[in-house]
Amino acid sequence: PAPLGPTPKLVIDLERMQQLPQDKAGPLARYVATIQSQRGDYNGRVLSIRQEDLRSLAVIYDRSPGELTEELINWGVLDPEARRAVEAF
Ligand code: C2E
Ligand code: C2E
Repeated sequence: PAPLGPTPKLVIDLERMQQLPQDKAGPLARYVATIQSQRGDYNGRVLSIRQEDLRSLAVIYDRSPGELTEELINWGVLDPEARRAVEAF
């Protein structure tokens, strides 16, 4: 296979997240708000999350990490590049 470079980061698009219906984005929005509070970082248009946080979110959404990643890509919250981050699980 072609060289792909380092594992991409999981970068949440916060503006896109805020446009989504509450029933979809609610749990993600609460999780992200907790991370922002822990970091004291409220100013970004995007937020990088830990790989392990995607695992936790997958449990919250009752999906596998791969399934949740596809959902978040469909919602426009994650870049398609994120698939490679989850393959590394
Ligand atoms: P911690 O895990 O003990 O991390 C302490 C500090 O180490 C962080 O302070 C940050 O400055 C740095 N740090 C740790 N891991 C990374 C990393 O992967 N990348 C970068 N750039 N820096 C890192 P900070 O940001 O003020 O966070 C305070 C605490 O809030 C963290 O303590 C952790 O308990 C929690 N936290 C922050 N962000 C996250 C997150 O994305 N996921 C989770 N699960 N917890 C987080
Ligand atoms: P990053 O800062 O570029 O870190 C990339 C990877 O390096 C992290 O992936 C983690 O595997 C490792 N790493 C970096 N700093 C630390 C550290 O202090 N302790 C440990 N144990 N590992 C570290 P990971 O965990 O998937 O995080 C992805 C990105 O999420 C990080 O990229 C950073 O942008 C953000 N992030 C994660 N945790 C924190 C945090 O506690 N505070 C802040 N401010 N950002 C964080």
